[in-house]
Amino acid sequence: MRAAGHGRPSEVNVEHGGTGGGFPAHASWLELSASALRHNVEMFRALEAATGGGLRRMMGAVLKGNAYGHGFREMLPRVHPLVDVLYLITPQDGLAVRAFEREHGLAPRQVLVMGAIAPEEAVALAREGVDAVVADTSWREAGPVLRAARLERPLRVHVHIDTGLGREGFTLEQIPRETAFLAEHREEFELVGALSHFSNTEDVTEQEYALAQLEAFETGLHRLVTQLSPAKPPQRHIAASAASLVLPRARYDALRVGISLYGLWPSPETRLSARLVLGELPTLKPVLAWRCMSQVVKWLPAGSYVGYGCTYRCSEPTRIAVLPVGYFDGYPRLVSGKAHVLVNGRRCPVLGRVMMNHLIVDVTRATGDERPVTATLLGHDGDETVSAEAVAGWAQTIHYELVTRLGAHLKRVVVE
Ligand SMILES: *Cc1c(COP(=O)(O)O)cnc(C)c1O
Repeated sequence: MRAAGHGRPSEVNVEHGGTGGGFPAHASWLELSASALRHNVEMFRALEAATGGGLRRMMGAVLKGNAYGHGFREMLPRVHPLVDVLYLITPQDGLAVRAFEREHGLAPRQVLVMGAIAPEEAVALAREGVDAVVADTSWREAGPVLRAARLERPLRVHVHIDTGLGREGFTLEQIPRETAFLAEHREEFELVGALSHFSNTEDVTEQEYALAQLEAFETGLHRLVTQLSPAKPPQRHIAASAASLVLPRARYDALRVGISLYGLWPSPETRLSARLVLGELPTLKPVLAWRCMSQVVKWLPAGSYVGYGCTYRCSEPTRIAVLPVGYFDGYPRLVSGKAHVLVNGRRCPVLGRVMMNHLIVDVTRATGDERPVTATLLGHDGDETVSAEAVAGWAQTIHYELVTRLGAHLKRVVVE
């Protein structure tokens, strides 16, 4: 069975990402489901309505890592209308959101750059009304640079409190002594938010460490507010996907949803906990599918070897499909000998080693002749599915790494 949308992308109802021009005849493509994305956002909104205690929390989308490999440029226009705030890592991506809004005449969304920012970049963000995370003492240097730039408005900042991840943020020991520069540069820095990040919500079903992090967050927040007495109470945010789902106490004023925006569960443990905490398991729909047309389909006689190193030998005559996908594109070499792809709704094992630009699959039973086939590397075909979790598992990694490593060069097409 062939599900809709499995043709070559030029045959399906697609909106091109902007580069124009045709598709290379032999290149894999990523299909991004706009309806799955909407479903996932609505799921979080519904969860908030049901268990949020009537508060109007902000729904935030994390678009770092090239939108978790889905494609920042393709995802931004789809995500922007659905959410209240956008979280990014680089200042360049923050400015790209403002450029996109101007180009399309859209009202500016709250945008927060969570990664490292040089003082000159901070000036550019202040001018564009993009928020910045202040996470360490290197920000002292930005104060005088911002002052010299004679800005019309201060840089809007969220202070990161390190509550136990040991990554960015001021530890409780550093607050208030090492955050004093923010008080000295009130004209340059406007405190609008405070955040932290959990270390362990995905890997466990009991949240003891997370609760300790929440206590530390409250303490740090209290110290900051006492020190800086902001005009309005700062926006508090700490929950990524897992905590948004399974730790209602951690939701505060905004959710920073990354992996689950794209329809993936943070981990099996989160899934288990969600069933317990929420009573029933919400549905997440994966946004991404990865497909290609075969480069060639042909028979190999019994006894033939397949791929580098002769690691696979056909024990019987085998109809193989050579697929134009390899580890260059983000298909991990570690899945060699373990993975399968889908052709005509059937599982087709990957034979031998994954190569730089090719992999070879057994299509003996999946097709009746040597005409080209469409292969699904990730996603549904008929009744079968290959999940990002499965491929990541074969590659001894997590789906976060698998999807963010999908090649930036791959064609991305948005489907309904
Ligand atoms: C990546 C990240 C998130 C999103 O995490 P998910 O598990 O993908 O939802 C949220 N906050 C910060 C600070 C992050 O680095």
